[in-house]
Amino acid sequence: MGIAISPQIHPQVADFIDKPRKMLINGKWQNAVSGKTFPTYNPATGEVLAQVAEGDRDDIDQAVRAARKAFDQGPWHRMTPSERGRLLWKLADLLEQHTEEFGYLESLDNGKPLAVAKAADVPLAVDLFRYMAGWATKIEGNTLPISVPYTPGAKYLAYTLREPVGVVGQIIPWNFPLLMAAWKLGPALATGCTVVLKPAEQTPLSALRLGELVQEAGFPDGVVNVVPGYGETAGAALAAHPDVDKIAFTGSTEVGKLIVHAAAGNLKKVSLELGGKSPNVVFKDADLDTAIPGSASAIFFNHGQCCCAGSRLYVERSVYERVIEGVAEEARKIKVGSGLEPDTQMGPLVSEEQLRRVCGYLEAGLSEGAQAVVGGQKAGSKGYFVEPTVLVNTNEKMKVVKEEIFGPVVTAMPFDNPEEILPRANDSEYGLAAAVWTRDISKAHQLAANLRAGTVWINCYNIFDAAMPFGGYKQSGWGREMGHDVLNLYTQTKAVCAKLA
Ligand code: ADP
Repeated sequence: MGIAISPQIHPQVADFIDKPRKMLINGKWQNAVSGKTFPTYNPATGEVLAQVAEGDRDDIDQAVRAARKAFDQGPWHRMTPSERGRLLWKLADLLEQHTEEFGYLESLDNGKPLAVAKAADVPLAVDLFRYMAGWATKIEGNTLPISVPYTPGAKYLAYTLREPVGVVGQIIPWNFPLLMAAWKLGPALATGCTVVLKPAEQTPLSALRLGELVQEAGFPDGVVNVVPGYGETAGAALAAHPDVDKIAFTGSTEVGKLIVHAAAGNLKKVSLELGGKSPNVVFKDADLDTAIPGSASAIFFNHGQCCCAGSRLYVERSVYERVIEGVAEEARKIKVGSGLEPDTQMGPLVSEEQLRRVCGYLEAGLSEGAQAVVGGQKAGSKGYFVEPTVLVNTNEKMKVVKEEIFGPVVTAMPFDNPEEILPRANDSEYGLAAAVWTRDISKAHQLAANLRAGTVWINCYNIFDAAMPFGGYKQSGWGREMGHDVLNLYTQTKAVCAKLA
């Protein structure tokens, strides 16, 4: 509907977006209680891609009730860890079989290049489900050698159990719609929680299709509920719901703070993966042949719409000109276009709102004295495209250096010595990621130890793996996604103490 379905579009995807999409509650696909729908747009054209049921408080309430019932009484509750693991593995297999289709859906709804969606988003999601499937059978407590000074001579068997936290509300963003759904669902299901997932209003389609695969894999009704809708309505209702035990959120720091307030009503547990303004530090002793394309990809991958984008580029002065010219040259080479065109390397931003926001930052930066070596403005007349941009003449007082732009815009600054760089790199309210490019391993590891960031990359950038925990220091969040760290977010410890006669 809305756009002419080009012959390029995968037939199953064309079918999927042709009908208004319903929400998944208690194993059934249903319309919103209000009957309302909302449009999701193709960011390459600005045209409506599909209509989607618009969840609100009543739908969230139904979904939470279904998740509660599935957690307290359903077959999920009685399943063995091994059976849970097998279901997760099956979901991974199904997703892998539909790589092509999910690549198209993601590219159409989010704008990212089809090749990137197929090479990164889908396989990373598949791998995350497999990694978490393995954990389902390995969530263990401890036995505790206790002493109890006031019961001399008594013997006890004390141990801990790690139990699922219960009903989890999960609110995800639009930059990696499928992958963020996987990061959230994987650990929740491995630990035995039940879920109400709210995808971003800009990109609800892949989570809805994933809901179909969840059913096909054989998860019991109510274990995974998917309720699309707007943040201020459906999202806020989920964050505040008194029968939700935990809320897991990925998105802006601003909304993260709203989530914390909303969660206070029943003191539900909260985990947050928020914004960033990550420093990317290139030393003069780096291998510039890898540092230059690496620094370009650090900011331009996913059109800069990554919470960990390397958006503050610091370069040691003696190689500054060379690195900036090199990164600018990489930017000039990027083929910007519709995600479905085979040679596209950078697609549109996700929405008109993001286009306005990024262009607003560009104007602010240029009016504060920054200069664009390359880019600096909107691209094309249709869709939400922005030119890959390198800004120089920037400093830490400028808005473009302090605030998260969430677009393909890097601010570059020189530095004179290694001692100067640490405080400058750490001078941010965020602390999500950082990178260091150098051949000096001592310098690299010393910086890695002192950078206030949840991830530090050395001589690489944007390397993700299901086994590597990801999350933020400072205002970049609470808790870690992925790795075995994430299991702590979805389990709680019970201490059991038995007196031995
Ligand atoms: P962005 O600004 O990049 O769109 P947001 O943080 O606004 O990122 O959105 C991330 C997710 O949070 C989306 O699913 C969105 O619907 C949701 N959201 C936005 N506002 C709220 C809110 N007040 N309460 C709960 N969820 C929200």
